[in-house]
Amino acid sequence: MKSVWHKILRVDLSNNTCKSEQLSEEVYEKFLGGSGMSAYMLWRESPRGTTAFDPANRLTLAPGPMQGARQTGAGKWTGGAISPSINLNADSAATASFGIEIKNAGYDAIVTHGRAEKPVYVVVDDDRAEIKDASHLWGKNAYEAEDDIKEAEGEKFECVTIGQAGERLVRYANIQTRKKSFVGRCGLGAVMGSKLLKGVAVRGSQEVPVHDPEQLDKLNKEINKRLAQIDSEKPEFLRIYRVGTAMATEMFAPQGNLPIKNYQLATFPSGEKAFHGSNYAKELNAKPWPCKYCVLKCHNLCEIKEGPYAYKGKGPEYESFAMMGFDCLIDDVKAVAYAGELANMYSMDTISLGGVLAWAMESYEKGVITKEDTYGLDLTWGNAEAMVEMVKKIGSRADGLGYLLGEGSKIASERIGKGSEEWAIQMKGQEIAAHNWRAQYISALNYCTGVASGPNHERGNSQHIWVGHIRLPEWGIDEVENEERWSWENAADRNAKFHDYCNIINSACHCKFMEFRSYTLTDLLNTINACTGLGWTQEDLRRCGDRITQLQKLLNIRYGWKKEHDFNYPKRFMEPVDEGPAAGKIPVGLKDAIMDYYKVRGWDEDGKPTPAKLEEVGLEGFLE
Ligand code: SF4
Repeated sequence: MKSVWHKILRVDLSNNTCKSEQLSEEVYEKFLGGSGMSAYMLWRESPRGTTAFDPANRLTLAPGPMQGARQTGAGKWTGGAISPSINLNADSAATASFGIEIKNAGYDAIVTHGRAEKPVYVVVDDDRAEIKDASHLWGKNAYEAEDDIKEAEGEKFECVTIGQAGERLVRYANIQTRKKSFVGRCGLGAVMGSKLLKGVAVRGSQEVPVHDPEQLDKLNKEINKRLAQIDSEKPEFLRIYRVGTAMATEMFAPQGNLPIKNYQLATFPSGEKAFHGSNYAKELNAKPWPCKYCVLKCHNLCEIKEGPYAYKGKGPEYESFAMMGFDCLIDDVKAVAYAGELANMYSMDTISLGGVLAWAMESYEKGVITKEDTYGLDLTWGNAEAMVEMVKKIGSRADGLGYLLGEGSKIASERIGKGSEEWAIQMKGQEIAAHNWRAQYISALNYCTGVASGPNHERGNSQHIWVGHIRLPEWGIDEVENEERWSWENAADRNAKFHDYCNIINSACHCKFMEFRSYTLTDLLNTINACTGLGWTQEDLRRCGDRITQLQKLLNIRYGWKKEHDFNYPKRFMEPVDEGPAAGKIPVGLKDAIMDYYKVRGWDEDGKPTPAKLEEVGLEGFLE
């Protein structure tokens, strides 16, 4: 197989060693790279009983075979490990150029285990790899750490780092790169913190050989031409260059898809105005800041020139302002952007952070926590100043509530009690993402059954059948009516296909946002084949996605998943809102839908893969 090196870098922090390891062809043919590679490393090396902060937890940072493609969207890479929030298999994808640089250095992944004796960072410069002292970086925020590593090693290195939240084991700490992209969900920054690993810097000068460069070139030209044509026909799409995923507000509000006031309300007019793309662009002076090779350019650079929230840096994406703005009933776009950037520097996932803050605000409203707990802050709904201060308390793990909120809303609500578990909108220990199940029932099914990263929106983004009008005709998802949002018919099959699709794309390592602009499963298949020479059909592609999903399920079973975890969804799932486009809609029948999903997946009544299913996807021998 081409477009991979068949070689990974092993970093053993306990023994202070770095060495390369050859991997067999079979590993790549089965799992490609990215998410699949991370799951494979856990399966092979982190046995039953391994926990997130255990030195035996494998942290895999991996690009995939598409990092040889130089195609728009082919800048992705994946971080994976056992998660401190869900205590199960997890992975999360980031962009920028870190994954491309791993590939340029001659590796398909950097896999770290063990625990250093003192803070360290890892430097990979082509085939030279070294573990260096990072004592002087410990206590610095993630951006400062990246600056300091680049100053020491050279500007051409691509870095990942963690901030104070990662060091202090906030269970939703993230990993940042280039001050613009994040391995966001599931707390993998805390896994780095537990290993005393402050950062990784990588640089390379090699070019991985692809199978058919001419075909790849032809494909890239055809895809770019198609995108340019769409831009000329639908100039409204061009706005994404400036405001990125902020465009979502105007798309999602009419669907009832926004999370508002800890998922209690259907509308928030002042928020819709504040986070509307045009206001976002004006107030935040947003400019394009794309990833390498990307012509879609969703990332943007913002600048607030003066006032208490002055900063220049990453503009908040939809999930950040949805959870820290709408979900906390805050309509101050500058405060939310600033709080998001603070979270980035501390290295915290803004989805979980927003969910935790919304839980705290509801707890404050109900008198479960008081000013005595909140450091004197008036943590009422919509109080932007208090929200910003709480971000600092959580990020620095201040004694008291700040520390507790860093544990996530599940643990915080169980400790505080007084019924507050009822409004912790989380599953398995992770706050759910910013897509409202009342707008499309499939989101509830997705949150309940996800195997790659808990209740996440991007590991089975089936909401986009309606939210983003994505279709997978090659796999039989084509004509879908709007009213089917609230039907369970076909939901299990569609959810399974989207899960497998996400696993393919996160293992090949391509940007999912391309799907919003006409990038198809056929494009994906053709590109994988041109890169690798695998000669796959659509059935092979689906089978690979299915295989990775099944392996992730096996890992979850190994690390303690139980059937009841899928059924223990928030009580709020069954509480309707009384206005807006999703008024009165609740996912009645969800339990049956979960059982249907098990059947479609080839799982038994207990939600476990059957031996026949494992054999079908080539995982015989993986069952424990
Ligand atoms: S669409 Fe956005 S996230 Fe995806 S590659 Fe382009 S700039 Fe990066």
